[in-house]
Amino acid sequence: MHLSDILRAPKVVLHDHLDGGLRPATIIELAREYGYGLLPTEDPAALAVWFRDAADSGSLERYLETFAHTCAVMQTREALERIAAECAEDLAADGVVYAEIRYAPEQHLERGLTLDEVVEAVNAGFREGERRSGQKITVRALLTGMRHTDRSLEIAGLTVAHRDRGVAGFDIAGGEIGNPPARHLPAFQHLKRHNCHFTIHAGEAVGAESIHEAVQICGAERIGHGVRITDDITVHDDGTATLGRLAEYVRDNRIALEVCPTSNLQTGAAKDYATHPIDLLRRLGFRVTLNTDNRLVSGTTMSQEFGHMAEAFGYGPEVFEELTVAAVESAFLPLPERRRLIDEVVRPGYAALR
Ligand SMILES: [Zn+2]
Repeated sequence: MHLSDILRAPKVVLHDHLDGGLRPATIIELAREYGYGLLPTEDPAALAVWFRDAADSGSLERYLETFAHTCAVMQTREALERIAAECAEDLAADGVVYAEIRYAPEQHLERGLTLDEVVEAVNAGFREGERRSGQKITVRALLTGMRHTDRSLEIAGLTVAHRDRGVAGFDIAGGEIGNPPARHLPAFQHLKRHNCHFTIHAGEAVGAESIHEAVQICGAERIGHGVRITDDITVHDDGTATLGRLAEYVRDNRIALEVCPTSNLQTGAAKDYATHPIDLLRRLGFRVTLNTDNRLVSGTTMSQEFGHMAEAFGYGPEVFEELTVAAVESAFLPLPERRRLIDEVVRPGYAALR
């Protein structure tokens, strides 16, 4: 598949962090404006390389450290609006037609914004970015509770309060080790009581037991990453596989895995693209979606993720269409909107490529 075709192909991203996808030049400008002096360099290209190198350390914990710099410049209404608008523009320019962008409101309170003001600013930015992109993209926010803090119930409440104004669901993120999802059970129960969508980062640094807890104890509709579901799958020498009860449950209930290959390589959750479990999981019938996780920190885009998969597994338009439709079907959007996206945007977009 040619790069120009990959760029033109309609893409959907369900797992992308707002604070992991800033433009390097924007970080530098905002750091100057707000007097943040801890950036490793003031050259945009060098800063992009620095992020990627820092994230390449092979540890999830170190990968997460890079966010101190991005969050430092995301503390005012203007900065949040600008960053959200640029996020929508950058995704649209990459051929993304629908995106769910997540961030943790509690990380943007250092200069006096309230949680509600943070959400309002980001939503306003997304609307502005959609407008500037000629409405070629629709963006929804997912509000994230941090695993290591105790504000998840509050953030779940915030999600419910803003659900009709651009917020589509909830997530928990941050260091997985020592912070199992069930620690945040009250948040998930609150969302359930209010019929609200949520996904959970699980099965990235910790194995199948984390996915089990996320799905069976907490009730996650999707799993962020989830690649370590392979702990519950035995692949035999002849290529056939035997699934454990959990893997079978996740597959049979069409629980979407938000797979982020480049990010997995950086955090050590996978060794290389060629042996990344995404292809095995797809062939076994799991509902697999392809995602960026952190575009700046991982030095990636949706088109680049498509390119890596094309190279590693020979994927062409048929498989990318399948992955994109799976992503729309798993989106936290009302069913009529998902159907419209598939019938009027995704299917015709791929038909035009053939
Ligand atoms: Zn993530």
